[in-house]
Amino acid sequence: MIQIFLRSKQSLTHHLPSRPFGFFVAQDYNPDFKSRLESQHLIKSDKDYRFAVVGCGPAGFYCAKQILKNVANVRVDIFDRNPHPFGLVRTGVAPDHPEMKKIEKDYEEVLKDTERCQFYGNVWIGANGGVSISKLKELYSGVILAYGATSERDLGLPREKSLLGILSSRQMASWYNGSLDKDVLYDQDLALEQVQNVVIVGNGNVAMDISRVLMKDPEKMAPHDIPTPVLEHLRKTRINSIALVGRRGAVQSAFTIKEIREISRIPDLTMYALKQELLDSFTEASEREQHPDFSVHARGIQRRTEFIKQTCVILESEEQLQEVIESKEGRKFILRYLNRPVELLGEQRVKGVKFERMRLEGSAGDQKAVAVDPKQVTTMDCELLIKSIGYKSQPIEGIPFNTKTHTVPNLMGCVLNDKDEPQPGLYVAGWLKRGPSGIIDATLRDSVETFRIIKHHLDNEMLPEKHTKPEDVQRAILENAANHQVVDYGDWQKIDAVERQEGSARGKSREKILHKEEMLSISKKV
Ligand SMILES: Cc1cc2nc3c(=O)[nH]c(=O)nc-3n(C[C@H](O)[C@H](O)[C@H](O)COP(=O)(O)OP(=O)(O)OC[C@H]3O[C@@H](n4cnc5c(N)ncnc54)[C@H](O)[C@@H]3O)c2cc1C
Repeated sequence: MIQIFLRSKQSLTHHLPSRPFGFFVAQDYNPDFKSRLESQHLIKSDKDYRFAVVGCGPAGFYCAKQILKNVANVRVDIFDRNPHPFGLVRTGVAPDHPEMKKIEKDYEEVLKDTERCQFYGNVWIGANGGVSISKLKELYSGVILAYGATSERDLGLPREKSLLGILSSRQMASWYNGSLDKDVLYDQDLALEQVQNVVIVGNGNVAMDISRVLMKDPEKMAPHDIPTPVLEHLRKTRINSIALVGRRGAVQSAFTIKEIREISRIPDLTMYALKQELLDSFTEASEREQHPDFSVHARGIQRRTEFIKQTCVILESEEQLQEVIESKEGRKFILRYLNRPVELLGEQRVKGVKFERMRLEGSAGDQKAVAVDPKQVTTMDCELLIKSIGYKSQPIEGIPFNTKTHTVPNLMGCVLNDKDEPQPGLYVAGWLKRGPSGIIDATLRDSVETFRIIKHHLDNEMLPEKHTKPEDVQRAILENAANHQVVDYGDWQKIDAVERQEGSARGKSREKILHKEEMLSISKKV
């Protein structure tokens, strides 16, 4: 970012607010609607502005909220491919964390302002019959891309897509969250009742969520919004072990101490780690990474590694581990380190994964995993392999896209063209802006940054006035093949009411509707 700034400083400064590197002030972090800005718009103008937000997840909401609160004479339209709002809060955040999902109430406040904000659900933006970005630019003063990450990274191994029993963490989290995505396998392909041993490649927050949902007593999740068919499937599971495998060492684990602690509290579950893998994790550089002088995160990292060392049963050898896995007593959660998957085993369904042993190389903060020499290979048996190595954003026709980072190039939220020049009127926020990691709080902060640049462009009258009416928007949507029925906020309220009623009849907070057609038919009802 700084490099870009220096390279074309002259052309860029014009587009930047006056405190480009000191953007964040306390009030920006305040997610509370009743901020001191409530009755006072920051940007007063006689002009009419229209904004389109692509994606109704946290980033889209926070951008819309900032605009509605701070700009007079403005209307914001939020588009989503799904008939429901809330993005990954609904389809990512684990169902046993209902307190996180309460944030939907905050987002709902934005949608309730139907005079100034319209929800256009079940609307596809992009190629293949969707509304084009150029059409949106024609209709709106500004377009904010906040469509997140709807795909995932692959392991790059042969037969990864053809063997049964291999799922991505996106599919898994989407499954237990009742996502409408077509590639989410309901029940039969998952065949959890056949699964004894699970291997999860990757050791971030999502891997932890999945492990917990698979290992936890399903009855503890039953009162929440977990779909009943999922719950029934989980009730049949007989999972004996889950191995969480990281390419790098224990110090570089991507989960938090809170998450590992939550797993460790599951009754009848023991955590294990291998002595040699832990020893090899603690290189001099890794020790340095845990030193409080090294970074603000070091203390947290050190607490986490201490917790791992103290809570795991440390095993001397792989043979010992094999014995533990084969024993029928209790369930096992195994933290494996310094292993990279190199081969998938099995004929029709996955039976195991071969891993190549790695070691750490490089300086603190920049350690890479490289294969040990001579090669060492280990096999982990499993009937379910979950790839939890990251979500991935997809490009939409008509916008610049970095195919290495899978993000939209931007300067503080303003999209850059292929000459690195900012494009006032085109903005990006959330996972699409900074990559698919980080919690909702981080998404809030980067959306505030995006709003700041929008504000700067409005203050400097760099955005065109627009008088686009809802009829114009409806027409633009429906002239595209992919969009045949729009779900507005009133329609969503009908769907929401049905889900809540169904849920309450079963003693749950909500019974999610799992098929788009059903949602659409409810939304049509008068
Ligand atoms: C499994 C999982 C669990 C998580 N758990 C937590 C947690 O417990 N706590 C926490 O703080 N954070 C959690 N996060 C992180 C949090 O979900 C993200 O920080 C946040 O959702 C990112 O917001 P976003 O708006 O960028 O993307 P999203 O939430 O993905 O929203 C993007 C929206 O764009 C829509 N969209 C996509 N393509 C199109 C298109 N072409 N046309 C129209 N609409 C489109 C999508 O349907 C979606 O609604 C979790 C993430 C995952 C994956």
